[in-house]
Amino acid sequence: MEITEINQYHLRYEMSDPFRPAWKPGFEQTEHEVLLFELETDAGISGVTTASGFAGRMDYLELAEMFLVGEDPREVERLVEKMDPLNLWGPRPWHFEVALWDIKGKEAGKPIYELLGGSSDPIPAYASTGERQGVEDRLDYVRDRVNEGFEAVKLRCHGEDPTPDLEVAREVRSEFPDLTLMMDANMGWSVPMVDVEPWSFREALSVARELEDIGNVAWLEEPLDRRNYEGLSRLRERTDVPIAGGEFNNGVHQFREFIKQGSLDVLQPDAVLATGISGGKKVAAMADTNGLEFAPHTWNDGLGFVANLHMLAATDASWCEYPIDPPGWTPEARDFLLANPIVAEDGEVAPPDGPGLGVDLDWDRIESLDIS
Ligand SMILES: [Mg+2]
Repeated sequence: MEITEINQYHLRYEMSDPFRPAWKPGFEQTEHEVLLFELETDAGISGVTTASGFAGRMDYLELAEMFLVGEDPREVERLVEKMDPLNLWGPRPWHFEVALWDIKGKEAGKPIYELLGGSSDPIPAYASTGERQGVEDRLDYVRDRVNEGFEAVKLRCHGEDPTPDLEVAREVRSEFPDLTLMMDANMGWSVPMVDVEPWSFREALSVARELEDIGNVAWLEEPLDRRNYEGLSRLRERTDVPIAGGEFNNGVHQFREFIKQGSLDVLQPDAVLATGISGGKKVAAMADTNGLEFAPHTWNDGLGFVANLHMLAATDASWCEYPIDPPGWTPEARDFLLANPIVAEDGEVAPPDGPGLGVDLDWDRIESLDIS
């Protein structure tokens, strides 16, 4: 089998309500922009993958064709290695691996997780917020999620002054004493043109101490830069709150460095953004042999979310991140290019069990949203 052609679609979806991401203060997102790639083969099977967010605005079709056209898509390991230099020239190569697995799974008639030795069991999910909100709005949100069956919620505290976010966490804790909480500082990376002063070590430590006091906090995520291995390690030594990170680290080697320097309790690679699916499996094995937790990042468009679901189903992951923050970030807005959005049930998410990625794309909608 040979990859013969790559089609690229630049999709722009109008959201029904604006979303105000914590990681981009002051910005109101009204469009969900995604770059969709379809890899065609001479066997009549095609595989799909997406790049979302920041990468969604770049055009690198020619580069992708240079690395992939003429190759056998089933040779995933070799092609991942071949794409390493892609990493030097611009976009990260990880998401292309997803399309290779999609083809391999479709040819075999099996879902990706099954090819990787995983199971179809539903994975416990936490509701992942994306906005910083005030106490009342956030309490309403948590009540809704708890009614839906979620037993864990991740809050955000991205900002130079985390006081209001810690206040939200305290109020949520007081109304829901048994709810597992996570806190994401989003200090690991920054968005172009957005000026937020990263926390100092002392500020990060003081947030961690507050979270110790709030109690039953599963982790504090990205309190420092994603490559500040030593700082994270010192922080981890001085607090009882587990430290998590890795969503935008680049490749398995950076996770080896986290482990070597004792930086993290919870490793959070993302199949699309950080390591690919095979790399994520390696990180899961590293977590396991080092007594660490594995809880991948999944905040993506619907296809990226599904790619991570397959990785989750094929590893011993503790939690599935379920991104949801209505009215802006809903399953419909997140998964707009899927025929049916992925919906959590009773606080769990099952991996799609069709061949490959196992989901149908809404091609009519895709054609109508394509602006390329
Ligand atoms: Mg995060």
